[in-house]
Amino acid sequence: MVVQILLCQHCGSDRIVRNGRAPNGKQRFLCHTCGRPCRQNPSPRGYSEAEREQILRAYQERSSLRGLQRTFGVAPATVAKWLKNSPKAAAAEHHRGRTAAGQRRPTRA
Ligand SMILES: [Zn+2]
Repeated sequence: MVVQILLCQHCGSDRIVRNGRAPNGKQRFLCHTCGRPCRQNPSPRGYSEAEREQILRAYQERSSLRGLQRTFGVAPATVAKWLKNSPKAAAAEHHRGRTAAGQRRPTRA
């Protein structure tokens, strides 16, 4: 087995220990100096800019969040987060005339 000398991505300390595996199978580490987790060869984001653009464009074509989930395997919460951070997409949402707020559950007498 090859011993790798790894440094904490946050504080640069070499006092890191193996800490299980990430869901994608990568080795996870925990830093003893700053207490933060890190992993080997981290991916910068779950989705690349290009993927994100494509999915948001699909959303603007009136695809539903659940439809996007079926097509791209992207979680509705992830798309909702992007929409929050993207003023352009939020404007498109406005044109659809849908609001998340204002829907009440019927109350029973
Ligand atoms: Zn650290």
